[in-house]
Amino acid sequence: MYIKDTITFEDVLLVPRFSSVESRSEINIGSKLSSKHSLQLPIISSPMDTISESPMAYAMDLAGGMSIIHRYNTIDEQCKHIECLPADAMVGAAIGMTGDYIDRACNLWDAGCRILCIDVAHGHHTLMRHSLKTLRNTFGTEITIIAGNVATREGFDALADWGADAVRVGIGGGSICSTRIKTGHGVPTLQSIIDCSRSDKEVALIADGGIRTSGDIVKALAAGADFVMVGSLLAGTDETPGKAYLDVETGSRRKVYRGMASKEAQIDWRGHTSSVEGVTSSVPVRGPVAEVLKDLSRGIRSGFSYSGATTVREFQSKARFIKQSMASVTEGSTHILI
Ligand code: IMP
Repeated sequence: MYIKDTITFEDVLLVPRFSSVESRSEINIGSKLSSKHSLQLPIISSPMDTISESPMAYAMDLAGGMSIIHRYNTIDEQCKHIECLPADAMVGAAIGMTGDYIDRACNLWDAGCRILCIDVAHGHHTLMRHSLKTLRNTFGTEITIIAGNVATREGFDALADWGADAVRVGIGGGSICSTRIKTGHGVPTLQSIIDCSRSDKEVALIADGGIRTSGDIVKALAAGADFVMVGSLLAGTDETPGKAYLDVETGSRRKVYRGMASKEAQIDWRGHTSSVEGVTSSVPVRGPVAEVLKDLSRGIRSGFSYSGATTVREFQSKARFIKQSMASVTEGSTHILI
C-alpha cells in the first residue's frame, strides 16, 4: 500500500526573501469570497455557540473580517443576531443540510443575510450535493454559499462543481476536535490546503481548524488559502457568548470554549448525544476582540513583508516553504524561558 507523507503548520517555515515593501500599509491582505463579497481582513470566526453571535459579528465586520452566526439555536434567535447588525454589515449564517435547513435559509434571507454557510463535519457527501443544488435553485446567484468541510482536492472540486462559492478546508485539526482520535480520519490542515489549492476551480479556499498564531495564518495563506476560519484564536474575548466565571484554583477569570460535537454542546442543542467528536474546555478572559484582531493583522502584514509581497496572490507566488526539524521548532520558540 502507498502511504503519502503529509505536513502541517509546525513542520514548515517560510524563507525570508528580498523585499521592497517600505510600509506595511502598502500591503493588501484582503480577498474575494465570491463575485459579490470580499473581505479586507482574511479572518472568519467559526460558527460555534461559544464564538459567533451578534457582538462578535459586529466586531469582526468593523475589523474587515466576518463571522458566521452559528446554527445551534432557533431560526428566530439566529435571525435576530442578523437583524440587530447595521444593514450593510458583512455577516454570514450557518445552516445544516437536512431538516429545516431551507426554512432556516429563507428566514435568514428575509432577515437580510446574503452569505450562507452549509456547516457540516463531512462535506464531501451526497446530502451536500442535494442541499447545494436546492439552495442554488432557491436563491440563484444572489447569495454567496460557503460549504464544507472537506480535506481533499476531490472534495474541494466536488463542492465547487455542486455550486459552492467558497469551501472550508480542514478535517480533524480543530483545537477542540477529537475526530481523528474517535474515527481515525483526517488530514493535517496545511496538507489539505496545499492539496486543495492545486484545484483549478474558481472558488475561495477557507482554511479551518488548528490555526493557533498569526504565523499559522501566514503559512495557510502562503499555501493557497484565501481566508482562515478560527475559533480558539478568538475564544475568551469579550464578544464571545457566555459569561466569564472565576476559577478558584488559579484565581483567573475564564470562559467556556467547546466543540459543537462535544457531549455538552450536543446535549444543549439536541437533548442527547450522537457521535461525540469534540471536547469542552475553558480559556482565560482576554478583553476586546478588536485588540486580538489588530495583533493578528499586524502579524500577517509583517509576514507578507518578509516574503516581499503586497497582495495575497503575489505572496502565494513568492512564498518558499522549507521543512524544519524538532530542534528548529525549539530554536524558533521563545526559548529563554525554558
Ligand atoms: P480552532 O480554530 O482550532 O479552535 O478550530 C475551530 C474549528 O473546529 C471550527 O471552525 C470547526 O471547523 C471545527 N469544530 C468545531 N467544533 C468541532 C467539534 O466538536 N469537533 C470537531 N471539529 C469541530
